[in-house]
Amino acid sequence: MRVSHLFTKTLKNAPTDEVAKNAQLLIRAGFVYKEMAGVYAYLPLGIRVLENIKQIVREEMDAIDSNELIMTSLQRREVWEKTGRWSDDVVDVWFKTRLKDDTEVGLGWSHEEPIVEMLKQYVRSYKDLPISLYQFQPKMRNELRAKSGIMRGREFLMKDMYSFHTSAEDLEAYYNRTIEAYKRVYERLGIGDDTYVTFASGGAFTKFSHEFQTICDAGEDIIYLHREKNIAINEEVIDDAIKELGISRDELEQVKTVEVGNIFNFGSQKAEDMGLQFTSDDNNQKPVFMGSYGIGITRAMGIIAEKFSDDKGLVWPVNIAPYKVYLVSIGDIADQANELYEELKAAGLTVLFDDRNERPGAKFADAELIGLPYRITISERLIEQGKLELTYRNTSDTELLTLDELLAKIS
Ligand code: ATP
Ligand code: MG
Repeated sequence: MRVSHLFTKTLKNAPTDEVAKNAQLLIRAGFVYKEMAGVYAYLPLGIRVLENIKQIVREEMDAIDSNELIMTSLQRREVWEKTGRWSDDVVDVWFKTRLKDDTEVGLGWSHEEPIVEMLKQYVRSYKDLPISLYQFQPKMRNELRAKSGIMRGREFLMKDMYSFHTSAEDLEAYYNRTIEAYKRVYERLGIGDDTYVTFASGGAFTKFSHEFQTICDAGEDIIYLHREKNIAINEEVIDDAIKELGISRDELEQVKTVEVGNIFNFGSQKAEDMGLQFTSDDNNQKPVFMGSYGIGITRAMGIIAEKFSDDKGLVWPVNIAPYKVYLVSIGDIADQANELYEELKAAGLTVLFDDRNERPGAKFADAELIGLPYRITISERLIEQGKLELTYRNTSDTELLTLDELLAKIS
């Protein structure tokens, strides 16, 4: 992509009402546009990051035999009434609206109840189970406070997965496989070392649910951490968990975190409430066992922007950067720069080519703000030496290399 064709321009300043570092940087660098508090549009650079995150998540969910689908944003009131969760006293983030004929409908904040309802059409016997389904779906939540940029949206992208089983044991085995899949996701996103499987409240069947909490100064959550024993506990359940695990509070370190994922074991409760049953091999009607597994996709992008950035701008990990290379040409060398652009692409690199007629300083500043992993500079002087300049965004190290040497390093 040529910067001259990119419709976004970098901005000196973020909107004055934007207080979150992740959104300030993402807006200035042209990844997102703020429509209102907690509501952001994803621009061409932004969707490339989201697509990279989604692809990693998709590969890991496919690897645990889950099927991808897309459910609807408009949801039926009757479906949520079956579990009492249509009530605003029970779920305080609903957006609700009406059809022309006055039927009340909700905008999906979760798809737990709708997917159970849907499965009544597809699950008959034990032979139809287990099933795992997942989607990337914009969720709508009327959040009270939305001050954390894209880490807390009123409209945000979630990966939600739901699994259905004939027994508690089968559900538990799948739940544990999902924990391992989630660990691989966070590892590949570059936040594995800082993300902890955390005991939290909210399991309907088990005592605890598990949250995946990433250490982050801008986090809204607090967890207690035992780094050596690799134990993490959300502060909401700290007293219970300490008792259960037989550890003392003094051994634990308090850290600020962001919840990047959350998984629940519902046992057979949800299916019982909603009448999702199967015929067992001994010909009895039994309720289905269910788990629910979320990852905040746009939130993960916000966490990465927040954690991987410095005073000059964003610093994308290679795996999710929108392009790998920021190519800067200096001086009147359009032909050679175009040729290099084509060669880099032919070598399989994704390249953002700053072909604008701008001062070098302005191009370098934009390269730093946008934060691609590698900056390659070409100039008349460098052409004379037969070299290119490679600069690493994360360390600021610079090397002079021939094209072959450079490709051997980064492609
Ligand atoms: P929180 O406690 O942060 O409000 P939650 O417990 O309500 O989140 P879940 O319903 O478990 O969230 O949703 C699954 C995942 O979706 C969360 O782990 C989080 O990563 C993401 N998520 C939840 N709410 C938001 C939001 N408002 N904006 C962006 N991502 C969100
Ligand atoms: Mg949660």
